[in-house]
Amino acid sequence: MSKVLKEEKAIVVFSGGQDSTTCLFWALEQFQEVVAVTFDYGQRHVKEIECAKAITKELGVEHHILDMALLNQLAPNSLTRTDIEVDEEIPDGKTAPNSLVEGRNMLFLTFAAVLAKGKDIRHIVTGVCETDFSGYPDCRDVFIKSLNVTLNLSMDYSYVIHTPLMWLTKAQTWELADKLGKLDYIREKTLTCYNGVQGDGCGHCPACTLRNRGLKEYLAIKS
Ligand code: ZN
Repeated sequence: MSKVLKEEKAIVVFSGGQDSTTCLFWALEQFQEVVAVTFDYGQRHVKEIECAKAITKELGVEHHILDMALLNQLAPNSLTRTDIEVDEEIPDGKTAPNSLVEGRNMLFLTFAAVLAKGKDIRHIVTGVCETDFSGYPDCRDVFIKSLNVTLNLSMDYSYVIHTPLMWLTKAQTWELADKLGKLDYIREKTLTCYNGVQGDGCGHCPACTLRNRGLKEYLAIKS
């Protein structure tokens, strides 16, 4: 893997899940210094934040947790409200899943950018991806490019938003984890499951279905 950015610093938007942990390892390969930022927005499972804390601690990565509880005040959704059940179906891309938190990535990336500038960091890494999912409009490449320009203008700073997973399928994200030598680590220590089960998860929520299907696909290609 190239190390062209080795002399620079990066901030990773980090949830403790498969995608952002893969991004964290990717960033550790690419950049001289990496810090992580996690947003606490009243996720269904505080365990997600516990996972993020444990991983950054283990890797010796500076970790910031920002309070974004206001997201829950703005828009009720199944990720933050325990009285709303998570849809079990995989989103079809036409109707937004009820786990959608409107504006989440825009807000997270904006807050990450403000934090980054204060630390002289211009590289922002996020695990958004438009391949498997199209139900989340602010995961799309066009949105990220647009926000990058807006952030640069709003703070007169030359941010570069990196999206290493943008065009990868879930199987290819597992392949990247494997290339980074971290497949088992990510498989065991991350939490993607909407029902809060670490590692291979509950097996039936949409996040588990996508994650496990991708893993199965990758392991089949690999063997
Ligand atoms: Zn699950």
